[in-house]
Amino acid sequence: MPRFGTYLSEEKKAELKRIADAIVAPGKGILAADESTGTMGKRLTDINVENAEENRRLYRQLLFSTEAKLLSQHISGVILFHETFYQKDDQGRLFPDLLKSIGIIPGIKVDKGVVPLAGSDGEVTTQGLDGLAERCAEYKKGGADFAKWRCVLKIQSHTPSLQGMLENANVLARYASICQQNGLVPIVEPEILPDGDHDLETCQKVSEQVLAFVYKALADHHVYLEGTLLKPNMVTPGQSCPKRSTPEEIARATVTALQRTVPAAVPGVTFLSGGQSEQDASVNLNAINKFEGKKPWALTFSYGRALQASVLKAWKGSKDNVGKGQDELLKRARANGQAALGKYDGKIESAAAGASLFVSNHAY
Ligand code: 13P
Repeated sequence: MPRFGTYLSEEKKAELKRIADAIVAPGKGILAADESTGTMGKRLTDINVENAEENRRLYRQLLFSTEAKLLSQHISGVILFHETFYQKDDQGRLFPDLLKSIGIIPGIKVDKGVVPLAGSDGEVTTQGLDGLAERCAEYKKGGADFAKWRCVLKIQSHTPSLQGMLENANVLARYASICQQNGLVPIVEPEILPDGDHDLETCQKVSEQVLAFVYKALADHHVYLEGTLLKPNMVTPGQSCPKRSTPEEIARATVTALQRTVPAAVPGVTFLSGGQSEQDASVNLNAINKFEGKKPWALTFSYGRALQASVLKAWKGSKDNVGKGQDELLKRARANGQAALGKYDGKIESAAAGASLFVSNHAY
C-alpha cells in the first residue's frame, strides 16, 4: 500500500501530461464555450435570439464548424457544457466527435455553479462534488480529455477571508484529484473577480495569497501537477479603480504573482478574460508573453467572452450570417494565438473589439 493511498499509475500520469501539454502547445489556447443555459440565455437575449435548445445548438455548431483546419491552428481545446456535450451537428455527429475529427480536444465543465458560503461576508464556494467521479467517467467515455471547475473570490474590505480561500482551494483540490483518477486533466480556476475599485497592487497581493492556498491544497491532495492546468485571472486593477494600468504593468504584476506561487511542474496557465474587451484580452496576453523574466509555464488563453462577443454580434441568430460569425471567431483566435507567442501586433480588428465585456458579479 503506498504511503498516500491510491497513486495514479505511471500510465495515467503519462496520459494526463500528454493531454495538458497538447492543450498548451505553442500558439494555441482554449475556447471556453461552456456557458450554462442561463448564461447562454443572456448572450442570446442581447442579440434578440430566443434561449431555446435548438438555438443554442445552432450557435455552438457555428463555433465548432469554423473552417476546421484554420480554427485548430489556434484553438487546442474547447470547453463544453453538459447539454452541448450530447448535442449533434446537422450531419448527426456528436459535438465532441466533431471536435476530435478536426484535432481539437473536447473538455467539459463539471462544476454545478457557485453558492453562498454561509458565515462569510458575501463570499461563495462552488458545488458539484457529489457524483463527480461517475460523471467524469461518463464524460471520459464520451470523448472528453479535460475538465473545468470555476471557483470565485471577491476583493472587498474583508475578503477574500481565510475561510473563503481555504474552502475554495480545498474544493478545487478535491475536484482535481477526482478528475485525474478518471483520466481528465483538471483546469483549476480560482477566479478573483474584477469587481471593485481596488488597485493593481491589491489584486496582485490577493492573487498571490489565493494561489498559495490553491497549491498548498493541491499538494495536500497529492494532485499530479504535470497533469493540471491553471486558469487564473490576469492581475489588473478593479473595474472601477480610477487608475488604469498599461499592458506592461499588468504583465509585470501577473507574471510576478505567478512566479511566487505556481510550481514549475505546472505545464501551463490559461487565463480567463474576465470581462476585458476582446482587444485588451489579446494585448495583455501578448504583453505577458513578452515580459522578460522567469516563465517556466506556457502562458495562453482560455477565453469565453473575449472570443465570442464579436461572433454573437455578427451572427445575430441568422443562418445567413454563420460565415461572418465564423470569420470573427477566427480573427480573435488568431490574435490570441499570436499573443500566446508574444507576437500580436494589436492590429486584428473585430466587431466588438474595444467594447467592455464586464458583467458585475459574473456567473458562468
Ligand atoms: P471569460 O473569458 O468570459 O471570463 O470566461 C472564461 C471562463 O471559462 C470562466 O470560467
